[in-house]
Amino acid sequence: MHATSRVEINLAKIAHNAEKLVQLYGSKGIELMGVTKTVCGDSVIAEIFVNNGIHMLADSKLVNLKKMRDAGVSAQFVLLRSPALSEVDAVVQYADISMNTELSVIKKLAETANLSNSVHQIILMVEMGDLREGIMPANLEGFIQKVMELSGVAIVGIGANFACFGGVRPSKDNMSELSKLADIIQTRFSLPLVHVTGGNSANYNWFTAADSIGNINNLRLGESIYLGRETLDRKAIPGLYTDAFTFVSEVIESKIKPSVPYGETGQNAFGNRLQFRDRGLIRRAIASFGSQDVLVAGLTPELDIEILGSSSDHTILDAKEVDLKVGDEVRFALDYGALLSVMTSVYITKKYSNIL
Ligand SMILES: *Cc1c(COP(=O)(O)O)cnc(C)c1O
Repeated sequence: MHATSRVEINLAKIAHNAEKLVQLYGSKGIELMGVTKTVCGDSVIAEIFVNNGIHMLADSKLVNLKKMRDAGVSAQFVLLRSPALSEVDAVVQYADISMNTELSVIKKLAETANLSNSVHQIILMVEMGDLREGIMPANLEGFIQKVMELSGVAIVGIGANFACFGGVRPSKDNMSELSKLADIIQTRFSLPLVHVTGGNSANYNWFTAADSIGNINNLRLGESIYLGRETLDRKAIPGLYTDAFTFVSEVIESKIKPSVPYGETGQNAFGNRLQFRDRGLIRRAIASFGSQDVLVAGLTPELDIEILGSSSDHTILDAKEVDLKVGDEVRFALDYGALLSVMTSVYITKKYSNIL
């Protein structure tokens, strides 16, 4: 069926961003995991990562790992989120490595792996202040002691996450703390940590400023590959494309109308009472998408027009000086939230361009 809105995915630009980031981080010995949750495990994009030097693909959803495996993508697959107890069987089946913070889950992973005489690899996430997932550093050694008593799982790394919940910045201090923890663990347990994974797209400023990156040898990147930005201030990374994705929709109504609703007013569709500025008569265009399709607040029009608001399935534009007509296409840049939402939406067509 024909969808009236689409996201255009410029594969050459994604390939370029991936290649440049592999070079940049590789220059100081950091290997990348390509985070695929943002694009719902899109195997065409995953393939581009692999062809540009990213050989670990990380996703928070097992269905996405399965999708990439089934599509024949050849990489190491990492489950980016601590497994739910109820999904442990599928974790052992579809993930080579999973990130973990709970002993009960690790015990079940070990039991499950033992049933098939395999060893499941785990990376332990350490809490470094952002207060999403992680084992408290003071408890880490005791935790590792218990994990090492289990057969069926092998600790292959430690990691930390930043700027996801608390907005905490990766810094010289917290990165060297993680690095020191890696030293302590390797020495005390004679445990070679293959991956010391220091964060995500928010680590760019730390990385570029760092004289020494210590033992950090891995980062997990999503947004900076897709949107060419670091994520603390959303600054563009020099030499990368910020427009690999474009949202495109179609005008379904275009009329000169007042700028302020008239009649008695109550709540709108989303339970809000909006305030309107009177700009007199304006050209109001309606585009054929709404809040059910995309996080509208994350869109920026390419033309000099303004998004006035949206309901579930209509987005109202002030066309300003642009003579938008029914049937015209309107194009928008996306931020991270908008990108996530369009990639997840079943109502938006995904169209690849500049195919390599
Ligand atoms: C989503 C996620 C990432 C990727 O974050 P970006 O900001 O897109 O680079 C990295 N690590 C973990 C644990 C994540 O959940």
